[in-house]
Amino acid sequence: MLEELKEIAKYSIAQSDYSFLAFPDNSISLASKAADILNTFLNQNLITSERGAPLATFIEIQLISWLRCLIGYDFNDVEKITCLDEVGASWMPGGNLSNTVAMMVALNNRFPTIAKDGIQSLKEHPVVLFSEDIAHFSTLNAAKYMGLGTKSVYYLKASGNYTTDIESLQVYLANRETGDTPFILVAVAGNCRTTSIDNIEALYDICEKNNIWLHVDATHGGNLLFSDEYKSNFLRGIEKADSITIDPHKGLFVTYPSSYIIFKNPKHLSNVSRKPTSTQQKNYFDLGLITPFLGSRGFESLKLWLMIKSLGKTGIAASLQKRSAMNNIMVEKIKETNLFMFFNSLDFYRSAFVFLPKQVYTLIQEKSKGKFANVLPNIIDKYTELFSEKLYKQGEVILDIFKLNDINNILGLGVRNYSVIGMSIGHLNINLKLIENIMDTININALSLVQDYIKDIRDFELVSDNKKLNDGPASW
Ligand SMILES: *Cc1c(COP(=O)(O)O)cnc(C)c1O
Repeated sequence: MLEELKEIAKYSIAQSDYSFLAFPDNSISLASKAADILNTFLNQNLITSERGAPLATFIEIQLISWLRCLIGYDFNDVEKITCLDEVGASWMPGGNLSNTVAMMVALNNRFPTIAKDGIQSLKEHPVVLFSEDIAHFSTLNAAKYMGLGTKSVYYLKASGNYTTDIESLQVYLANRETGDTPFILVAVAGNCRTTSIDNIEALYDICEKNNIWLHVDATHGGNLLFSDEYKSNFLRGIEKADSITIDPHKGLFVTYPSSYIIFKNPKHLSNVSRKPTSTQQKNYFDLGLITPFLGSRGFESLKLWLMIKSLGKTGIAASLQKRSAMNNIMVEKIKETNLFMFFNSLDFYRSAFVFLPKQVYTLIQEKSKGKFANVLPNIIDKYTELFSEKLYKQGEVILDIFKLNDINNILGLGVRNYSVIGMSIGHLNINLKLIENIMDTININALSLVQDYIKDIRDFELVSDNKKLNDGPASW
């Protein structure tokens, strides 16, 4: 068995390796790993307090209070919480489900008759608002799962910095059809492609005036709450949002699974409880009542709880700062090579760029006036994909690949989707020496493709292999 397990480990992805730059999910917190091991032996069931998780229930409630405090929501110390109505958040196995729960709670809050009479009984037509270019697929899926259908979604534009476009929201609200009732806007704080962060405050002001629930998908950006500086720079107004998704298993060093859906008004979760009256009952703490979709579940909250205990808020903030500094250095080094073109400017940890050496770019500018200019983007896609694939197969440096709209027309070939490379340094102990090693690998591999790249552009009518890549590995 040991031999078998060794093989399994050998062919598993090491997300915690310094050179794994595809996602920031590196689970390097030892406290979180230790908690995970203990968790499996304790095997508590957080569906219920008595007979399931008599202490774990209150550790999770304490953790939720800490998160509420970091956001700036009203919170109570765990000793003072008297019933489930005051908890106001739930652990979830991932951001997908957290976002889905947010939409479900928003829908039931706005249209309370749905629980009994169903959506078909509504006179008005519920509408979901978000920007297609930046929102995660879970938002569209949630609309489908809720029975609203994709036709109930109105796609807002994304502005040049990959954030939800405020003007397109205003235009929609001024011109919407009678009967259309937008009930939720899903904003993104750290989208999965460029980690750009929406202007939460401006979106909230409009949502509030129009009675629209503002959900902030802070799957990535939520970790910035631990730093007062980052919070005020990036997440201004987040405490006004009606609900927030945070994924500690993404950029907060915690092992999978770990996500939280948190509500400004703690009572909102009770609306979807199996027994709404029990949520007001004093000293009744079966979290299963306010954990939609889930029944029996483990004590995953111990992981983030122990990490916060061990590092404290300031320790975590320092880690975030270090990681951000390393990402800045890495981006500068890649820019210096003149081999890549960036679609976004770095905020905290994710960059998106295409493989486009300067001399190839010059050639493309010439050819872009020609008859076959529409083929050029396919060649850029081809070589960006080839480069990323080459690295992935070697296994020394791993970068992400997915589709992204060139909103700012950086490549000069029109606003369209390209295959782009995604990069985020998740490991905060990476140092300059390791960055140099990574840069060597990137350089050698990129340079080895330049001659073919130039040749393909020169005779692009010969290019037959225009394999289309529609999604990233995580199917964004
Ligand atoms: C990853 C991600 C999700 C989904 O989260 P999971 O934890 O993978 O379920 C949702 N929204 C955004 C912006 C994400 O990056």
